[in-house]
Amino acid sequence: MALIDMYTNEVEQTWCPGCGHYSVLRALKIALARLEIQNHNAAIVSGIGCSGRIGGYTKAYGFHGIHGRSLPLAQGIKLANRKLTVIAAGGDGDGFAIGTGHAMHAIKRNIDITYLLMNNQVYGLTKGHTSPLSDLNFVTKSTPLGQVEDPLRPSLLALSAGGGFIAQGFSGKQEELIELIMKGILHKGFSLINIFSPCVTFNPGKSYAWLRENLVSLDESRKVSDRGEAFKACLETDGFFTGLLYENDAPDYQSRIPVVSETPLADLDIKNTRFLDGLIEEFM
Ligand code: SF4
Ligand code: MG
Repeated sequence: MALIDMYTNEVEQTWCPGCGHYSVLRALKIALARLEIQNHNAAIVSGIGCSGRIGGYTKAYGFHGIHGRSLPLAQGIKLANRKLTVIAAGGDGDGFAIGTGHAMHAIKRNIDITYLLMNNQVYGLTKGHTSPLSDLNFVTKSTPLGQVEDPLRPSLLALSAGGGFIAQGFSGKQEELIELIMKGILHKGFSLINIFSPCVTFNPGKSYAWLRENLVSLDESRKVSDRGEAFKACLETDGFFTGLLYENDAPDYQSRIPVVSETPLADLDIKNTRFLDGLIEEFM
């Protein structure tokens, strides 16, 4: 069986025809297959929103959590079993409205998971209202006179929070997206991949054609470990770019904690761990 088939299940896919999320799903499955990761070694964790269905459409371990909470769940899974390849996925409403606090701390904490932000700059599942990533003047049912706030830029936030791997892809550029997801999985630490994934139903202004015309491809020859240059690239493009923005080789969370690094939490003999015994006694 080809590895990509291993990730395919019979669940009916109900995204709208043309939704960018189909491309993200396909790119994820191809990336996992190219890296020869068996599906019993992968977990896909999602939140709420159209994007949240990605876990159900993938045959692997997974958890469909509550709104904005894919990252705490994914981090817990990785801490319990560091051998798993853990992918968290969610939309812009899920990850950068209710989930913003979790996103910032997950980026800062640098646990070795890959976060796919399926960003269509709108809440799709609730039939189209403005998200914190929507453009200024965006007209929806929740902002009938147009959005008066400037949008958040996730990659800028991630750079500020100390992110060690930050990239942006586009559903309309499959091969680049596959490559970025593979790099994100291989990166030892937290990887954010902000993916422009058009909502063809509720955000026609951010169409494939618009994104194709306006997304800037980052210069691949620049030094990706230069955080200042990464900030500059973000600001010069107003966040509308694709490619690897920034990567460093800072140690991930688990390798900073030897006991966790050496043994999956699930395998720890907790009763014999002096540290935990001491803690329990202290609070008894
Ligand atoms: Fe995709 Fe938008 Fe349809 Fe949701 S509403 S499935 S995001 S096109
Ligand atoms: Mg959205």
